[in-house]
Amino acid sequence: MTFPSASKGQVLIENLSVVFSSRGRELSALADINVSIKPGEFVCLLGPSGCGKSTLLNCIAGFVKPTLGSVSVDGKLVDSPGPDRGMVFQNHSLFPWKTVLKNVSFGPEISMRGGSSPDATARTFLNMVGLSDYQDYYPNELSGGMQQRVGIARALANYPSVLLMDEPFGALDSQTRSLMQDSLMRLWRDLRLTVVFVTHDIDEAIILADRVLVMGSQPGRVVSDLPVNLPRERSSDTTLLPDFLRLRKTCLDLIKSQTMMSFQ
Ligand code: ADP
Ligand code: MG
Repeated sequence: MTFPSASKGQVLIENLSVVFSSRGRELSALADINVSIKPGEFVCLLGPSGCGKSTLLNCIAGFVKPTLGSVSVDGKLVDSPGPDRGMVFQNHSLFPWKTVLKNVSFGPEISMRGGSSPDATARTFLNMVGLSDYQDYYPNELSGGMQQRVGIARALANYPSVLLMDEPFGALDSQTRSLMQDSLMRLWRDLRLTVVFVTHDIDEAIILADRVLVMGSQPGRVVSDLPVNLPRERSSDTTLLPDFLRLRKTCLDLIKSQTMMSFQ
């Protein structure tokens, strides 16, 4: 396995602002964001709809360019998408005409890295997400949870140092979602990746993260940076711990006040 070393995956966001122009109006989607994410850290971006979570993630991915400020990963300025940053979307966005195997081997084929063949790389990651038996299926033959697992395998097959996830489990039922959270935590622990995970679900953010960045809107900004000091090996039992409940209440109050402000 040739994953980046544990010292890779540092994300530095400095004075980042994004202004969108649409229909003759300017919209400040992000204003003066400053965040430093350590290699191997699991960070959740939590906030109400429209507060700029996806825009911030897309700036790290290189899909959206900053209006002001910068994003750098491992000291390299982000100005376009790159294989060091893998993205998992809410709607899996797999190629419907390609098999599961070919969806996952697509990235390695493009990057033409040395070592194992693209198909062998794809099989390694399909095995890791428990889909070895489905490599010849097409995406529409799989359940939503399985499609998302293919999306994760596809992102990992480029050996990124940072995994970016935009509400990846938002469309799944709560049982599947909980299983996916467990499996993501195992992958993160084993591969020692940096993960930036967007969600509007407070429980999901706290169960997964080392650190929750609560965002507010108009303009999008980070209103609170909360460390999650709960023991690892988390499970649904973690949600019963007093520290979990305290953090949950803090997040709930912050989001409530942000949502109320956006209605005024
Ligand atoms: P979130 O992911 O938190 O729901 P987004 O980052 O998608 O929020 O959007 C933040 C704000 O920026 C919203 O008001 C949205 O309408 C606006 N926005 C996002 N992308 C664009 C775009 N490409 N052009 C114009 N406005 C956009
Ligand atoms: Mg979004």
